[in-house]
Parts: sequence; structure tokens; C-alpha cells
Amino acid sequence: MITFLRIMLQGTYRNLLRVFTKADRATSIAMRKKILTLSVPPLETVLDEMCIGCAGCYNICPTRAITMVPLEKPVEIVEGYTKTQVPRIDLLRCVFCLNCHDFCPIYSVFGEAAPIHARDVGTPKMTLQEVLKKPIRAPPEKIDELRKLIPSSSFSLITNGGTGNES
Ligand code: SF4
Ligand code: SF4
Repeated sequence: MITFLRIMLQGTYRNLLRVFTKADRATSIAMRKKILTLSVPPLETVLDEMCIGCAGCYNICPTRAITMVPLEKPVEIVEGYTKTQVPRIDLLRCVFCLNCHDFCPIYSVFGEAAPIHARDVGTPKMTLQEVLKKPIRAPPEKIDELRKLIPSSSFSLITNGGTGNES
């Protein structure tokens, strides 16, 4: 009984310290305030500016967690190709396989941060226009995989939008 009381008192002391001195906290004060005021910003899972709207991520997603939504104002990315839609991830259906990220042509063909990432899209180093001017560096197997996934109009954009060099 005495041992039990000792353990309980020790635990209480430790927790009281935490309560009153805010020691050992895993959450920062800034995040705590955001949680208490319901103002935690949602993760940015799609970067619309970098996306070319090809729907490759939508096609590859095994759980159908991605919906392509029409853009209010379509954007002409290069002459003859206009982006009309961008993906949205339903994180309740997502299993975080990251296929959408890995098969996104911006990432898999150009080697840049993909405009889609279930855990946070991150900050790309280049603009889409700069990415599209880069030569494609992907092994032929990957190019063939993409050819099957991406509509032919979008595929010709990524294979001819830069230097036209597929090697
Ligand atoms: S990470 Fe999520 S959204 Fe992306 S392909 Fe996998 S299940 Fe789909
Ligand atoms: S695969 Fe990449 S470029 Fe294509 S729609 Fe998805 S996020 Fe956009």
C-alpha cells in the first residue's frame, strides 16, 4: 500500500510539474494556442501552381481518394495545352502509399518536388515553367509506364514541352 501511494504521489508530482510549469511538453505553445482556437491550418496536399492537371495521380490512386476538380479559371500552361482541373485528396480515404507523388510526371519525369503529396506537398524549388523547360531524365521503363497512365495530349506535353528529348 505504501509503495502504491509512493508511486501515485511521484506520478502526481511529475504531472503537476508538467501542468504548472509546462515542462516536457511535446506540443509548442504556438501549436497549443492554434489547437485551442481551432485554427490549425490544414496540410497543403496539392500545389495547384505546379500541377499540369494530367490526372495521373487520380488514375494511379488505389483507394480512389483523389478527385479532379475543375478550375474556375483554366490556365494555358504552354501553347496548345490548357490546365482545366487539379486534384484534391480525401485524406480519410488515403492510405499514404505515395503513389500519387511518385507517379506524378513533375516528380517522376523531371525529378522535382511533386505538386501532390498526401503528407504535405512541401516547397518546390522551381516554378512550373522552369520545370517544363528542363530536359526529361527518366529511364525508358518509367516513360512507358507514364505513357499508359497519362492521357496522350498531356503525355505529349511532358515529352515535347521541354527539349523534346526523352532520353
Ligand atoms: S498517397 Fe493517398 S492519395 Fe496518394 S495514391 Fe496513395 S492512397 Fe491515393
Ligand atoms: S499527377 Fe501531378 S501533374 Fe498530374 S494531376 Fe496529379 S499532381 Fe497534377
